[in-house]
Order: sequence, then structure tokens, then C-alpha cells
Amino acid sequence: MAGRLEGKVALITGGASGIGLGAVELFVAEGASVVAADLQDEKGAMLEKRFPDRVRYARCDVTQEADIAKAVKLAADSFGGLDVLFNNAGHGGVPTGVADMDAEGWDATFALLVKGPALGMKHAVPLMVARGGGSIINTASIAGLQAGFGPLAYSAAKCAVIHLSRCAAAELSPQKIRVNAICPGLIATSIFGASLGLPREVADQMAARVEEIGPKIQPIPKAGMPEDIARAALYLACDDSLFVTGTHMVVDGGITIGGRGSWDPTVGSPI
Ligand code: NAD
Repeated sequence: MAGRLEGKVALITGGASGIGLGAVELFVAEGASVVAADLQDEKGAMLEKRFPDRVRYARCDVTQEADIAKAVKLAADSFGGLDVLFNNAGHGGVPTGVADMDAEGWDATFALLVKGPALGMKHAVPLMVARGGGSIINTASIAGLQAGFGPLAYSAAKCAVIHLSRCAAAELSPQKIRVNAICPGLIATSIFGASLGLPREVADQMAARVEEIGPKIQPIPKAGMPEDIARAALYLACDDSLFVTGTHMVVDGGITIGGRGSWDPTVGSPI
């Protein structure tokens, strides 16, 4: 059976670890060729070794327009075009609030989480237009929907990503390009270790606790894993979602519905 992304070309930023890596693996399994853009050269080289015909690694800082242009060009040169852009690179941003706001950290957070995806779209669109359309997926967060799930700058930036996706969806619909956001909940990745300015021991503790705490506080009692988000990205990338644009898909084990009911999938539905 043909994969759901057979013959498609995807660019995935932050593709060397966590959610991005999960998406690279799933997209390749579904038939896509992928450019993984990241700053982790060793992991990128390992990906090229694992999938020699199907993955190229681009060293790319998504805050730098020239790097993004190069990554997009690599997709065209290596695989002949671009159909899917998964703007996913990120970290937890500067861990300060209103009273102790760090203006430089704020700018760095927005450059990575908001300007990066916007630049990605700018450079991907011409290649998608040449293919007759495409799909863009931007990783937002439940922190962009509700307070209390991340630091101030991160949360505000992720909220901006949701609206960036809506506005781009409206602008790009005549070119048959769909744009959607995904709002992951608590996902077990190394994101906290990579956050700006978070003390190492706090970061390590947080990363370990996501796996432990998630199942206890989410209506669906399992730890969120990169593949849970990769599957949502696959849906938005492929033709299964042809009638879906400008939306944000919440993939969070139900944590944002605000309470844990009595349904326990291990014993069956009470209904
Ligand atoms: P991760 O740390 O495993 O992956 C992030 C990747 O982005 C890393 O490979 C990192 O090297 C890369 N990256 C960071 N800065 C970059 C830059 N300037 N240019 C290019 N690449 C860069 O973390 P993750 O959890 O997989 O994060 C992926 C996305 O998911 C992020 O946008 C994050 O905000 C979002 N998210 C994560 C969670 C969670 O609980 N893990 C929840 C909601 C949203």
C-alpha cells in the first residue's frame, strides 16, 4: 500500500530531536523525502546515514533568513521541490515573567518561535506554488492557549504562532496552500534542557517529570511522546486533511479540558 506522503518532499525544522525527529521518521515511513533542518550536526549526520536516499540534513538556524533559504534550496536540489513545511524548531524561551522581563531574551524567543516559522513560510511558498499547492504546519503549544503551561515569552510567542497560522492560511488559500498549527501538551523531549537560561538541574528535573506527571494529571493517562505529535503532523501534511486550514489541533491527552473524569481506558468506558 502506498504511504500517505508517497512522492512528497517535506522540510522539518528541529528535525534532529524530539517531535521533529519523530516526524522525520514517520514521514519517511509514509513515503516522503525529508530535509531535516537543525543545529545538531551530529544527529543530522546520523539521520542521513539511517536514510541515505530519503533524508538530507541542513545546518540551519531558523532565526537566520539565509539559513532558511539554504535549507529550502536543499529540498529543491536534492528532491526536486517542496510539498510540506513543518515549522517545529524551538526551545522553552527565556524563563522570566513580567516583573523580571529580560528584553533580549524576549527578542530571542520571538525570533526563534515566531519569526522563524514566518521566514520558513516565506521561502517555502514559491516552491509549493510551483507544485500546485502544499501544506504548512506550525508547532504552537497549549501554552499559547492557556496560562500556566510555560514562561511568559514562550506562551505569548506560541499564541502568536496560532494566529500567524490563521492569517497565513487566509493569505495562501488561493495558491492551494493549507496552513495549520498543532498545540502539543506535555511531551517527553529534551526541550526543557534547551531552554534559555534555565538552570541545568531544574531543566533535567522538568524533563524527567513530564513523563512521570503527565499520566497522573491528563484525562488520557499516558505520557505524551514525540510520535503522538508526529501523527497529528502527518494528518495535517497529507490529503486526509484536504478540507482543513487555519485551525489549531490540540494534542494534549486532554489536559486543557481542565479535569480528569472517571473514564479509564484500561477498564473500559463507563458509558
Ligand atoms: P527538542 O528540544 O527535542 O527539539 C527541538 C529541536 O529544535 C532541537 O533539535 C533543537 O536543536 C532545534 N532548534 C532549537 N533552536 C533552533 C534554531 N534556532 N534553529 C534550528 N533548530 C533549532 O524539543 P521538542 O519538544 O521536540 O520541541 C519541538 C517543538 O515543540 C518546539 O517548537 C516546542 O516549543 C514545541 N512544544 C513542545 C512541547 C513539549 O512538551 N515537549 C509542548 C508544546 C510545544
